[in-house]
Amino acid sequence: MSSDQPLPSPEEIQKKLSEFMKQEFGDRVVFASPQTETVETTPPTEEPKRKEIEFNFHLKPKEVKAHLDRFVIQQEDAKKALAIAVCDHYNHVKAAERGEELRDYVKQNVLLIGPTGVGKTYLIKTIADLIGVPFVKADATKFSETGYVGGDVEDLVRELIHRADGDVNLASYGIVYLDEIDKIATPAHVIGRDVSGRGVQTNLLKLMEETEVPLRSPTDIQAQLQAAFEYQRRGGKVKRETINTKHILFIVSGAFDQMLEIIRKRVRQADIGFGGHLAESVSEAELQRRAQTEDFVKYGFEPEFIGRLPVRVVLDKLTVADLYHILKQSEGSVIKQYESSFHAFGIDVMFSDEGLHAVAEKAALENTGARGLLTVCERGLREFKFELPSSTVRQFVVTRSLVENPEAELQRILNEPAYAQRELMRQLVRDFERRFEGKHKLRMRLEPDAVEEIIERAQHANKSVTDLCRELFKDYQFGLNLVKSNAGQSEFVIPRSALADPDKFLSDWVVSSYRKEEPSA
Ligand code: ADP
Repeated sequence: MSSDQPLPSPEEIQKKLSEFMKQEFGDRVVFASPQTETVETTPPTEEPKRKEIEFNFHLKPKEVKAHLDRFVIQQEDAKKALAIAVCDHYNHVKAAERGEELRDYVKQNVLLIGPTGVGKTYLIKTIADLIGVPFVKADATKFSETGYVGGDVEDLVRELIHRADGDVNLASYGIVYLDEIDKIATPAHVIGRDVSGRGVQTNLLKLMEETEVPLRSPTDIQAQLQAAFEYQRRGGKVKRETINTKHILFIVSGAFDQMLEIIRKRVRQADIGFGGHLAESVSEAELQRRAQTEDFVKYGFEPEFIGRLPVRVVLDKLTVADLYHILKQSEGSVIKQYESSFHAFGIDVMFSDEGLHAVAEKAALENTGARGLLTVCERGLREFKFELPSSTVRQFVVTRSLVENPEAELQRILNEPAYAQRELMRQLVRDFERRFEGKHKLRMRLEPDAVEEIIERAQHANKSVTDLCRELFKDYQFGLNLVKSNAGQSEFVIPRSALADPDKFLSDWVVSSYRKEEPSA
């Protein structure tokens, strides 16, 4: 290449280098980095995108918690502690921006202790979305395995910029979440054999305190080339090349099940005077709640590292009832996903309460927390997603028998349209009961044979079951309310016999409730 020929563009050089690398090393060397793509969007002569606006945070802990309640079921301690930590953190950021920073402020980095699938990531993601800051998650084990530690940990921070669409300022308020932190502990007896865990801790510690992270990874050839070109195009002027980590919130988590023995031992020793039974009788979560810095140090963490994680919270295992509530109440419930994917094929899927209980029970057996819900639904409904869109079935109900025996149920639904139709009508009657309860605070429960009769009548009269229920029970809210105030009863079982004359049945109820009220009169 002669000296008066224009230099090739970075893209051309990159292409040539990629070809060369591939030839030399095959697929062992990857020649790309998502972070650099973000940085490339920066015009070469300008600073990286940097909005000089004050960070706008105005939430209170109760508001954050209320938002989390919409999505995350249970985990009350964690929701509270995170809500407070996040408010403290971003209020401090705001104060610092106004130049009113406390000198010895300790950042509210968080340590979450809990098994897999109980909502740790979900909590943090929901918080990040609420506040409008970027969020990055990685497994800490990734760093100890690579052997090379320095650059990798910093990649997390660079990834924040990528998530913030290149906005370095916004990225500097982001949240970094590291899971499996317990795996980078280096217990005293293995020091020397496994130093990488310590290395990761030291590097993380730097990030958690305050450091400048280069926008481009020193190990990323493409990014370095890009930097060299921009440097040259700007006539040798150096632009802002780092991001400060002072206001980044760090959240780390792990199951810490191996630490239980350490805590138990300490508690047992402290408890010896009281008979020493405490350590044996408390639950694992309760023991973990008693974890102290010395336990973490014994487990293999540097005291400085643990010291930088002042907010510690234990998350609970999810019970079958919790799993059911997740399906039923969480705004992020997987059933919404199924409703929408079937809806895309013009199919309505309804989940009966019994069906949801069955899903929750099966999911609990998976031992993967709420993740099991998706596994169970996927296993049960996969064939339905495959078969139903090409069939004439336009609606079906996920019942307990469907969850327990999906194959047989699918065949039945495909072969007997009336069967699916009947299930759906049952579900609509139950929906009527539920809405009635929600609206009037009166629990009305139709006995199974009453439900069947309503379905038959509706089919016979070519009416919707919902309309028929409304007609049959149109005065029930008034009558039952009278019974409620007279007799204190708020739950009403309606037998099939009531359907012969629902109004008479109701008035008999009301009359006898007056009698009950005045027995001594
Ligand atoms: P982990 O605790 O391992 O980080 P996740 O938060 O990723 O688990 O949970 C996996 C999924 O399970 C979430 O995306 C969410 O849909 C659901 N989930 C887990 N825990 C809860 C919970 N407590 N409330 C509602 N949904 C939950």
